[in-house]
Amino acid sequence: MRFLPTVVRSFYAFSNATFRVAPPPLRPALGPTAKLGLPSIPFLGAFFGTSSSSNNMTYPLQKGKEEWQAQLSPEQFRILREKGTEAPYSSDFDKHMPSEGVYTCAGCEAPLYKANHKFKSGCGWPAFFDAVPGAVTRHTDRTFGMERTEIVCSNCGGHLGHVFKGEGYPTPTDERHCVNGVSLSFNKNDPVKDSKA
Ligand SMILES: [Zn+2]
Repeated sequence: MRFLPTVVRSFYAFSNATFRVAPPPLRPALGPTAKLGLPSIPFLGAFFGTSSSSNNMTYPLQKGKEEWQAQLSPEQFRILREKGTEAPYSSDFDKHMPSEGVYTCAGCEAPLYKANHKFKSGCGWPAFFDAVPGAVTRHTDRTFGMERTEIVCSNCGGHLGHVFKGEGYPTPTDERHCVNGVSLSFNKNDPVKDSKA
């Protein structure tokens, strides 16, 4: 059964390339070296590097790899810190439709999405049409030869997912924040209720 994770991983990589972020095994270590040696061939670049600038940005909350590993579950670390993607339909938050409360970053507890930002997209991941103002930072992600908009927590830089526009959902923004449920916690109290913007 040792081959199973590889098979599953490959399955998602090929069946779900629209949403899948490149797996991390050959990505250079974070830091200054991340800029070096990325091949210019688009296909290889898609697998071996990330053109997102998020790795080089500085976020208010800084923690080392070991600190994150000690705090997060292996799956949380893979997704939040290594830009992984959870299996579709695997998150309890996918069908979670509370009337109030706030979804916070599973890495740092920063409030990210309010309950009334959430909508049913049917895509298999929790979907939001808007975020708490300033809570989510966008980057261009060119992995897999596609150009997508990656979203990260503005406080700790944790990977959340991607934003897709113009899909025709009947929401006020026509945007879909496709977020890994693993990257979220839920707080039924709403600490940002009074800071409506
Ligand atoms: Zn965070």
